Amino acid sequence: HVDRLPEMQEARLRLPVLAEEQVIMEAVKENSFVVLCGETGSGKTTQVPQFLYEAGYASGIIGVTEPRRVAAVSMSHRVAKEMNLSTSLVSYQIRYEGNVTADTKIKFMTDGVLLKEIQKDFLLQRYSVIIIDEAHERSVYTDILIGLLSRIVPLRNKKGLPMKLIVMSATLRVEDFTENRKLFPVPPPVIKVEARQFPVSVHFNKRTPLEDYSGEVFHKTCKIHRMLPPGGILVFLTGQAEVHSVCRRLRRAFPFRRGREVAEAPTDTAEEMRRFKKVKLKKTVSLPRIDLDNYSALPVDEGDEDRQAGIDEEEGSDLELGDPPADDEEKADPSLPLYVLPLYSLLSPEQQAKVFRPPPPGTRLCVVATNVAETSLTIPGIKYVVDCGRVKKRFYDRVTGVSSFKVTWTSQASANQRAGRAGRTEPGHCYRLYSSAVFGDFSLFSEAEITRRPVEDLVLQMKDLNIDKVVNFPFPTPPSTEALVAAEQLLVSLGALEEVKEMERARLSCPISPLGRAMASFPVAPRYAKMLALGKQQDCLPYVIAVVAAMTVREIFEDLDRPAATEDESSTLAQRRARLTQMRRLWAGQGASLLLGDLMVLLGAVGACEFAGCTPKFCEENGLRYKAMLEIRRLRGQLTNAVNSVCPEVGVFVDSKMAPPTESQVVCLRQIVLAGLGDHLARRVQQEELLDPKWRNGYKTPLLDEPVYIHPSSALFKTLPPFVVYQEVLETTKMYMKGVSAVEPEWVP
Ligand code: ADP
Ligand code: MG
Repeated sequence: HVDRLPEMQEARLRLPVLAEEQVIMEAVKENSFVVLCGETGSGKTTQVPQFLYEAGYASGIIGVTEPRRVAAVSMSHRVAKEMNLSTSLVSYQIRYEGNVTADTKIKFMTDGVLLKEIQKDFLLQRYSVIIIDEAHERSVYTDILIGLLSRIVPLRNKKGLPMKLIVMSATLRVEDFTENRKLFPVPPPVIKVEARQFPVSVHFNKRTPLEDYSGEVFHKTCKIHRMLPPGGILVFLTGQAEVHSVCRRLRRAFPFRRGREVAEAPTDTAEEMRRFKKVKLKKTVSLPRIDLDNYSALPVDEGDEDRQAGIDEEEGSDLELGDPPADDEEKADPSLPLYVLPLYSLLSPEQQAKVFRPPPPGTRLCVVATNVAETSLTIPGIKYVVDCGRVKKRFYDRVTGVSSFKVTWTSQASANQRAGRAGRTEPGHCYRLYSSAVFGDFSLFSEAEITRRPVEDLVLQMKDLNIDKVVNFPFPTPPSTEALVAAEQLLVSLGALEEVKEMERARLSCPISPLGRAMASFPVAPRYAKMLALGKQQDCLPYVIAVVAAMTVREIFEDLDRPAATEDESSTLAQRRARLTQMRRLWAGQGASLLLGDLMVLLGAVGACEFAGCTPKFCEENGLRYKAMLEIRRLRGQLTNAVNSVCPEVGVFVDSKMAPPTESQVVCLRQIVLAGLGDHLARRVQQEELLDPKWRNGYKTPLLDEPVYIHPSSALFKTLPPFVVYQEVLETTKMYMKGVSAVEPEWVP
């Protein structure tokens, strides 16, 4: 029995999903697998676990997975409150924290947490039901969990320990789950929840800003706030830095101080709308000083960002992004207070919770968010949506599989989800800061993440779950066979999988080796995990950890080759380029250490930066990206912990005053690097082989038909060793190898 407070009960009754409670519970009773679709805000995440609890499924744990930490934390709090139960019963677990107890009945967690639990107990015996939430996002871990559970549930039923799987989606596009016979031989029932949705008028921009879209977002938001009737504004941007920058500008433009509430805004909708469309922004000049200290402090990013849960839609703590110079619109106008709140994944739960509370009287709520507000969280009272049309995604390069974050156009489905946020409580408006022609060019849906990236890390994780034949795995959308073959070959060559007969290898069924198990526990790409696994030799671990962290973070040097904006800048750029060249030469060392090449430069840069306390000043003066250096610091800590837990006897620690490696350590490091990057070996083309002048100073690689070159900025540009390994190949004016390190000819297999 659940003893809800009357006001909670009342709020629940307004949710569309309540009308379907019986249908849903019947379906769950009759079937092992059920798919539930319903618009964001219809009550799926908060209500379905309660239905199950009340229907007696709490004999085991009711588990709910979320692709985002934000949702896991905030939904557990919300459900505990609605049910009037303590957080020891309705709890959450995310990678680094949680409040789960022995009494927990409903457990919200990230999908990565559940995957790790399956590694410990394949049958998930403590659970009676698993709900996979936000399945429409198609994150890699969600897809894999659905595949695994399609097998686990029948096994549990056979054992007489029945278990249920409920897949929940905010869109109706669920054929990948329901029409996939390999996944579910009998199609699971699909229940649709009809949500109340008020009409949303969509307004496209005539022009599409290509450069400063966050400036455009700021201006549009100002205009809405000045001109339009009350109602919350929800702004979609792509990352944390943009969110903070726009929040700061909005707070400056419409300062709000507690205790100085103002009269209600006008409400004549039609008239306001007309004026809004006509208005030209007024120009003013003076720039009053605003006391920013009176505002709640900007949230500080909480430490570690590695996400077991896979889709980290945000980059690191790039809070220091400089604001553009204040313009006229930023002239403070305290008569129109705006209550501005940021919202993104890594924000602390206390800060996140603020968006659900009504704004202070006399103010308008404005939430500036990343993608997390698209479907995971429903913010009450939103009437206006401002959509930049972009999203930040991870991209992988073909050659190395190393990833980076890039901002691209979102999909039509996502843009429509965003627009839908404006029509939850009354008719609303969505302002798209791009033209309808551009919208027409968006892809219809976002592709499943698993088809967009190399899969060697996944294959290793799955082998670690003792799934030997990955090709047979019931993926909702399988990766290409080529991708799987390439992954398996790489893992065999790294020793992570046992070498087996040619025939078996063709069937992609190599089992994991003890080395592979150790590698699977390091949160970096398998090539780098291999280096960590070998790092024990000659006390090289601290160096290997530093190099692997730097290679994983990438782009640690400032881009000084960009064109200068002014003549003045041109001369400072030239100076800084010279300084960086000089520092690189210094970090590369001399004699033996020079042969570790660009990786020695990375090691030297990390060492020097840490020695100096990793300050913005040091980075600025030496051409290093401060943000990258902070990320490296975090990753070093994390890798150090991971290595210690696999291999406690090495007792490695992060030393901020790390001495440079000795000569024999450098040789050892070069061999470790070769072991990890063995498939990235390149041989210098000899004079007598020159068929074509383009091969002069070129290198031959097994992967590419064309020559690749050592970049002039490389530590090995002048040396041109006969053999090298490289981190990646980047095509600019030529195909250049990055992260080059020399290999002794006698080491080459
Ligand atoms: P769905 O999962 O279908 O998108 P939810 O169950 O997340 O829907 O949300 C249902 C309703 O509960 C929404 O209208 C939302 O406003 C409300 N809600 C969710 N979390 C909170 C919260 N922390 N505080 C107040 N209301 C909330
Ligand atoms: Mg939900």
